[in-house]
Amino acid sequence: MDLLACPICKAFPLSLYVFEVSEIEVSRNVSKTCEEYCGFEGKFIKDISSLKCNICFSKEIIKGILICYHCERWYPVVDEIPHMLPDDLRNKDDDILFLRSHASEIPERILYQGKPFHL
Ligand SMILES: [Zn+2]
Ligand SMILES: [Zn+2]
Repeated sequence: MDLLACPICKAFPLSLYVFEVSEIEVSRNVSKTCEEYCGFEGKFIKDISSLKCNICFSKEIIKGILICYHCERWYPVVDEIPHMLPDDLRNKDDDILFLRSHASEIPERILYQGKPFHL
């Protein structure tokens, strides 16, 4: 989340909505932390008084959605991988199915007006 900008309009940061998460073992102390934006807190680092990087780094996002509120595009996260494809390489049928199956967890604005596809 610290590194992900919208591939189309370059806006940063993106908003993350998590549908499914797993806990992973953080064996050693986290030496590298988020530098600008922490997706776990949903805040810029400068606005966080004490960073909880051990918790942040122990969350593996299995499924979710990344939203760019600047251009109203959305990107699915499936099997831990964010799919940040340009509009013309996306599969409309897959995208619509994704929106349908997570409709209750996706903000309405994106569900009905999001790009490149919406319900
Ligand atoms: Zn973080
Ligand atoms: Zn964007």
